[in-house]
Amino acid sequence: MEENHGHSTRACRPGESDGLDQRVMTGPPPDRWREPARDLPVLARPDVLVVGAGSAGVSAALAAARRGADTWLVEKLGFVGGLATFGLINLLLTLDDGEGHQVVAGQCQEFVDRLSALGAARFPDRSEWGSEDPDRVENWRRWGLVWGRPPENVRYSVAFEPEAFVNVSHELLREAGVHIRLHTSCTATYGSEDRVETVVVESKSGREVLAPTVVIDTTGDGDVFHYAGAAYDLTRVYPFQWFRMGGVVDTSSDRPGRGWFRTTDPGRVLVPWGGPGAVDFRIDPTDAEDLTRAELECRRGVMAEVSGLRDREPGFADAWLDDIAKLLGITESRRLTGDYILAKEDVDRVFDDAVARTGHWTRRGVVFDIPYRCLTTPRVTNLLTAGRCISTSRYVHQATKEIPAAMATGEAAGAAAVAALGTGGLVHGVDVAGLRDDLRRRGAIVDGAADPD
Ligand SMILES: Cc1cc2nc3c(=O)[nH]c(=O)nc-3n(C[C@H](O)[C@H](O)[C@H](O)COP(=O)(O)OP(=O)(O)OC[C@H]3O[C@@H](n4cnc5c(N)ncnc54)[C@H](O)[C@@H]3O)c2cc1C
Repeated sequence: MEENHGHSTRACRPGESDGLDQRVMTGPPPDRWREPARDLPVLARPDVLVVGAGSAGVSAALAAARRGADTWLVEKLGFVGGLATFGLINLLLTLDDGEGHQVVAGQCQEFVDRLSALGAARFPDRSEWGSEDPDRVENWRRWGLVWGRPPENVRYSVAFEPEAFVNVSHELLREAGVHIRLHTSCTATYGSEDRVETVVVESKSGREVLAPTVVIDTTGDGDVFHYAGAAYDLTRVYPFQWFRMGGVVDTSSDRPGRGWFRTTDPGRVLVPWGGPGAVDFRIDPTDAEDLTRAELECRRGVMAEVSGLRDREPGFADAWLDDIAKLLGITESRRLTGDYILAKEDVDRVFDDAVARTGHWTRRGVVFDIPYRCLTTPRVTNLLTAGRCISTSRYVHQATKEIPAAMATGEAAGAAAVAALGTGGLVHGVDVAGLRDDLRRRGAIVDGAADPD
């Protein structure tokens, strides 16, 4: 499945206005209303603030708190996991290089172990990784774990249950002592020229402030680095909206693995709906009007597809709609222009400052080491980013946006934030060799040399 077809980008530069005109004026222009200044309560001054509790944010907060930092995790929705949970993207693609070697481990592997112990994950045994045996390939295709062009093989990828992912996240975050704040959006940052001093959040409790030493942007959309004035690219994309159906009594036709995937619950299937072919428009994922249109039109499309499946597919006649993704499937929006932009030519390249690795879900043998500099921006000294908005080209983003890679960059960012506390939060002052050792010691794979195979 091609996930990205749009190529409309807009570069924003440090200091570019986000619409709130900061100039001193005698009065606002006619189409503006000037908000009165007021004092806001300071909620906390944590060592590390992680904004956005998707898979990258959960991993970042976990890594920071486990290293002893006072850590806050702020999420605008009422659940953690982001696209990986109730975006219904319930497939970890991939933890391997397509040649039978694991390239993502660490906290992502810990999640797989926990989910597996709960019976909430399915994945091929190590002995199957890399196999081209047609029966094995077909079996794992039905779980949504085989993609790309022939000759296909079995990858180390994982199908999982989203409720279990949320429960495991809560358990691990609680054990680590992370302060979780749900239903709370980051809406602005303020600070000096090159430092985020305060992060403004909004919720039912009103408008409040957090004053962290280091802030990690795991919003997927790069909201924090946008507010902080960092440079980035923004892409328009086709929206997706995956959904699940229950009561499917026969999945033996030749469509499983193409039209829908098996899940860990018998009779329940996951349908990867949306994108080009299903939707004929692209959206700016940072524009509320576009997002609203996508929600309304995708839901209509999903309901039509549910009827179509019932009518035409064997075993679906009495099936019901279980749930529709609560988060639109946005493959890409803002990508940071960081201290390094990882590009296609960097495949297999060795970096002294690599802090994570990733394979490619459709391309066998394609592996990228991810330098620490893809998580930092020259513009802001105490800001890190992780997950789908790190600094890469659009091509490489296809690999780094995947959930295992997002968890790996999240883990690296959380560890780096703690390393930066020694220098007052200066992320460019981190001893990267020490950071790499720290990550490796705790089971992460940071480069080819650490590959256990
Ligand atoms: C259609 C589609 C198919 C995909 N298929 C796969 C696949 O099969 N396997 C795979 O591994 N990956 C797949 N991906 C990619 C993967 O799902 C995502 O890239 C990954 O989950 C991103 O994780 P993240 O934590 O970076 O971002 P997200 O999951 O987007 O999490 C960001 C979190 O931040 C929160 N947030 C946003 N803004 C704010 C704010 N201002 N304040 C507070 N909170 C905020 C959001 O609510 C969300 O919880 C797919 C993606 C799409 C869209």
